[in-house]
Formats: sequence, structure tokens, C-alpha cells
Amino acid sequence: MKFSIITLGCKVNEYESQSIMAQLEMAGHQVDEGLVVADYYIVNTCAVTNIAERKSRQMIAKISKLNPNAKILICGCASQANLEQFRKYNQVEAIIGTHGKHNIVEQLEHIGLLDVPNDYCNTQYAKSTLTRQYIKVQDGCNNFCTYCIIPYTRGRSRSRYLQDILDEIKLSTALEIVITGIDVGDYRINGEKALITLLEEVNKLGKRFRISSIHCGVLTQDFLVRLSKCENFCPFFHISMQSASNATLKRMNRKYTIQQYIDVCNNVKAIFPTACISTDIIVGFKGETEEEFNETVQNLNKIPFSFMHIFPYSVRKGTVAEKLTGDVPSDVVKQRESDLKNLSDKFYNQFLAENIGKTHKVLVEEVKDGYSVGYTENYIYTYIDKQLPSGIYEVVAESVFKDGMKARLI
Ligand code: SF4
Repeated sequence: MKFSIITLGCKVNEYESQSIMAQLEMAGHQVDEGLVVADYYIVNTCAVTNIAERKSRQMIAKISKLNPNAKILICGCASQANLEQFRKYNQVEAIIGTHGKHNIVEQLEHIGLLDVPNDYCNTQYAKSTLTRQYIKVQDGCNNFCTYCIIPYTRGRSRSRYLQDILDEIKLSTALEIVITGIDVGDYRINGEKALITLLEEVNKLGKRFRISSIHCGVLTQDFLVRLSKCENFCPFFHISMQSASNATLKRMNRKYTIQQYIDVCNNVKAIFPTACISTDIIVGFKGETEEEFNETVQNLNKIPFSFMHIFPYSVRKGTVAEKLTGDVPSDVVKQRESDLKNLSDKFYNQFLAENIGKTHKVLVEEVKDGYSVGYTENYIYTYIDKQLPSGIYEVVAESVFKDGMKARLI
């Protein structure tokens, strides 16, 4: 039977889809990715916004069009948050939420759809890739930000065994590892916070690595100093912020003040001068006044950001924020979104300008439009005017080009 896996949403979903692919391949099945012709589709859904959830449902219609006889299994956050929305589709054979992803072959066997070879060996390791590989180290979240459904769909925070993580990295053929999780900063060993210990152990394996989104509270002086001694760490910090107004942060139940956040970012830049710092900002959150938004703009200008992802707030059913009053009119939300996107472009252009003329190490992932392309250690998309096999190359950045920089090999 030929499977295809379709992934929506975050890096953790991407990791888990790779894990599902590995499980199915080990069970002797042919597996592909995306909207390609297959007998059986697994849609790994997302519920982070209403739009993400709608896209998850729309994917079923797209599959139906491509292969009206295919069977579909739905997993992931949208199915955990509200499985009823998927019941009406005839082709959907099973809906398994978030937990069932870890033993997908057993799930399929259980609903009587597959003959599973006897030599099936259960593993959660993701399929290894040649270039960059996500490694999941933690799942779930205890933070309960008022706008977010994730603690309800993925459950409470729990960490993976250190040795299991290291073993997966050792087996990986990837040239770069991305340490990922829902709340990576909450990674624990024996109940104690231990992300820096994990990163120091990962560093010893000799592969270049980076971390996905992290909370500012994790980045203490001690953490940053120890991290700066990890020579394989790529200085890219995506520090989720969501708003730069203390009043808005309080309504979001984010547990830091703007001053704390600013201090952390300045400290990151002091210890990692070439670092790329990015963030996520939600505009138009419930009750966000003109004053609060202006305060956000003023504070954003005080932070050494390289770029920002801007999202208009969209209400999630079942969250605390759903019940808050103070909807912001959609035209105001659009204007705020556009203002902050312009500010992000300004930050990015400044960041690119600072990096021109400097040497970088680029992980070439593919050839696109005649250029070898990939990311520098500090996460700038770089174009090298030469066709190269995948690998890490030392370059000099020569100019700003398309969405990144053009560079030449040293
Ligand atoms: S930290 Fe907040 S936004 Fe992130 S997953 Fe947890 S509850 Fe959601």
C-alpha cells in the first residue's frame, strides 16, 4: 500500500511526520509526502489558528479530488481539539488525535486496514534527511497562554530521555540538527530543567545544531555563557514575544515583562554579536488599544531584532481568550499587521547589511534557479552562484540578493 503524509503547522508536527514515515517504511510500506497519488493519506493537522484548522479540513477535499477512492487518517492538534469536524467526510477512516501518532502502524492495524509484517520494530525516530533534521526533545506545554489551544491538544510538558535523543542524533546522516519541542526551554532531566545540559551533550557529537523557538526566561546569563562555549551551536534565537506591551502580555498570560525581554535580547547580542534574533508578534489581541499597540511599536524599536513574524489574532475555541471582550476591528488589525511587517522589513534589511562582507558557513540544501542555496549559521538564506552538492561551505557574503544574500566560495 502506498501512503502519503501531509503535514500542516509547526516544526514538532514536521518531526512527528518524519517519525510516522520511518514507522511505515520499517513496516514495509511505500511512503511519500504531500499531495501526490497514494492509496492512503495521513493528514497531520494543526489547530494553532482557525485558519490552520480550516486548511486541515480543506486538505481532505483536495485529497478527494486527487483520489476519490483513497482512505484518510487524521491525526494532530485539530483532531484532538475537535474530532467532530472530521467525522462527516466519507473517506476519513480514522481520527487519532495527537497521542496516536507515536504508534501509527498499530493504530492502522487496529482499525483493520493493514497487514503488518512480523518484523515490525516500534521506533519513534524520525526519517533521517541529508541536510537539516528536526529532533524532538519535549512535548506538551504548561504555560496556558490565554490565546493558545496547544496545552489542551498536546497535554502537559514532558521530556524525552537524554540518551534516546543523543542516540537518534548519532544515527542521523543530517549535517545540521534542529532541537525542537513545543516548549523546548522546559526540557528536564529527572524533573530538573536541563536544556543547557542537553545542548552541551549535543555539542559533543560534533554536528552543527540550532534550537527552535524558545522563551526569554530560559536565556539566563549562565545559560548563554555555557552555550557560547558550544562551538557547534548556530547563533539563531527565535524568542517568542507576542506583544511588547505589558498590559497586553498580562492578558495573554505571558509570564515576563517587556524590560525582562529587552534585557535578555541585549545580553544575547553581547554574548553572540553575530546572532540572528527573531520573534512572533500577535496584533489585534482582545482589548489591544491604540496606546498598547503604540507601546509595542516603541518597545520593538529598542530590541536588536533581525526580523519578526507578524500574525493577526484569531480566536481559538476553548481558550480563555475566547471569553475576553474587546474585539479589535479587522481594518485596524490589518493596519497594525502592515505597520509591523514594514518594521520587520526594516530590521531585516539592517541585519543583512551588517552581514555583507563577512565570512559565513552555509549549509547548502539544494540547487534553485542555478544557485546553491541554504542557511548561514545565523540563519540568512544565501545564494552561491555555483552548483554544489549538499554540504557546509565557507563563503563571503557579497550583496543583498532576493530574500537573503549572494555569496562566493572562499
Ligand atoms: S507557551 Fe503559550 S503559546 Fe506556546 S504552546 Fe504553550 S501555551 Fe501555547
